[in-house]
Amino acid sequence: MSDNYNAIIIGAGIIGCCIAYDLSKNGYRTLNIDFQPAAGAGSTSNSCGNVRFYYSTRDGVALAYESAWYWHHWREYIGVKDPRGLAGYHNTGSVFIKNRVIDWPGVRNNFESIGVKYEEWDLATLQKKIPIADFHSFYPPRRPDDPHFLDGSSVWLEGACYTPESGYVGDPQLATQNVECAARARGAAFKYNRRVTEIRRDDLKVLGVTLDNEEQIDAPVIVNVSGPHSFKITELAGISGNDNIKTRALRHEVHVVPPPDDYSPEEAGYHTNDADIGAYYRPEAGNMILTGSVDPACDPQDWVDPDIFDNQVSESQWQAQVYRLARRIPGLPIPNQPSGIVDLYDVSDDWIPIYDKSDLKGYYQAIGTSGNQFKTAPVVGGMMAELIGKVEQGYDHDAAPIKYKLPHLGLTIDMAAFHRNRKINRNSSFSVIG
Ligand SMILES: Cc1cc2nc3c(=O)[nH]c(=O)nc-3n(C[C@H](O)[C@H](O)[C@H](O)COP(=O)(O)OP(=O)(O)OC[C@H]3O[C@@H](n4cnc5c(N)ncnc54)[C@H](O)[C@@H]3O)c2cc1C
Repeated sequence: MSDNYNAIIIGAGIIGCCIAYDLSKNGYRTLNIDFQPAAGAGSTSNSCGNVRFYYSTRDGVALAYESAWYWHHWREYIGVKDPRGLAGYHNTGSVFIKNRVIDWPGVRNNFESIGVKYEEWDLATLQKKIPIADFHSFYPPRRPDDPHFLDGSSVWLEGACYTPESGYVGDPQLATQNVECAARARGAAFKYNRRVTEIRRDDLKVLGVTLDNEEQIDAPVIVNVSGPHSFKITELAGISGNDNIKTRALRHEVHVVPPPDDYSPEEAGYHTNDADIGAYYRPEAGNMILTGSVDPACDPQDWVDPDIFDNQVSESQWQAQVYRLARRIPGLPIPNQPSGIVDLYDVSDDWIPIYDKSDLKGYYQAIGTSGNQFKTAPVVGGMMAELIGKVEQGYDHDAAPIKYKLPHLGLTIDMAAFHRNRKINRNSSFSVIG
């Protein structure tokens, strides 16, 4: 099997598939390898698929806003007929509740410089748009066993920012399979139910991989896009100590609750980011409400081995998230039984991804996506393909990081922002907000 592929991509999640698609467009013969049985069956399958644009850094906002084009023009991006059908985009708009955690003037500056469409809503507008909510401030977020959890509040929130192009992708795995289909049409190959157990290398460069059935496949380029397993693949490559920014796997719960009587989330709901109660929420299929945590300080962080973790919803985190949401939406019915999903974020030290090469020739990494890079995957596919193409032709990305031109916005991203050896970015929210 040697020399058949120009690039082996470890992982067939949304980002691995988008990289395969763009490399294939550039003439590479790619092979994605995944131990799951299908594309997008890893952490992508449980992604909430939210497409929102507020990140704490300018590059984070630019990547996310560029991605909007792809979700609004999915058919055009995929470019082939997928017999499974195309993933749909729910263009609900997104409400970012102004809060004490994220610096709103800073976000607004980035929105202005990048040209993000937004409206500012004062408190009265917010109350009119979302009449089921109580917009008192409940900051700081607490857990239900905190004696102050039910304290009243006399402080009103200031208002919100609304971005009309935002929304969510209801079926992230189908979106990934669409990209797989588009990549296959360009000649990309995919191998499932196989685990990479070894990265073969010499002192300077990668040689290939060995799989759990002892099969050896060689290629001059290997890309680590293994999601929450990223640090394990980094270990296999023998470069664990090299990079300044490290990654690890964080367990995350998302819960689903019914709406209050006489309220239809699918007709009237927005994607909402509400750090005042430490939550995000949006409509979910079946006219339900989905809610997740934005990692407030009161919540424990559960760092895990991605091969051994509890994938059942826990009573205590379910209560924390659902009861907090019930403070914002007082009519929220509280079900008797918890329901939701559990999956893993691949978190970097500053919650900003690594999109980079490495010290090992031919070894690249698109990791540390920190619970917030589903939306950006089609943009990252193009950016990584350009990086790989240029570095393989001898470009020194470490000396002068590539400036990537976003195809639709026409703006430039300085890839130094995603470098493995950057200093920890103190402007980050150090949370899923990025
Ligand atoms: C609960 C949850 C909610 C989220 N919500 C959002 C959101 O609303 N918006 C947003 O933008 N982002 C969100 N994210 C983040 C987003 O889903 C991820 O950033 C994105 O899906 C990562 O894609 P990926 O391709 O890098 O990783 P993955 O989908 O994890 O794919 C990696 C693949 O690598 C494979 N693999 C690992 N090790 C090996 C090996 N040794 N051999 C072979 N295969 C291997 C795995 O099986 C896996 O399929 C969320 C994430 C989670 C977990």
